[in-house]
Amino acid sequence: MSNTPPTDVIGIDQRGIPTHACLVCGSTVFTVYASFEDYEIVAWWMDAECAQCGSPLTAPCPADRPVEEF
Ligand SMILES: [Zn+2]
Repeated sequence: MSNTPPTDVIGIDQRGIPTHACLVCGSTVFTVYASFEDYEIVAWWMDAECAQCGSPLTAPCPADRPVEEF
């Protein structure tokens, strides 16, 4: 996949399944609302937007991590 985002892509709604990368353009940079304490992020909202193509998506959080099998 190219590192250059497509310029003519219309974003798609990817909300509902937490993801680490945009399905449209492959970007791993998201725009999120975040809260800070003592210079660290302490919370972020899961409603996010791809920073490159603007597609709405769901940001991941630790609770989304798959449970490892024993
Ligand atoms: Zn994107």
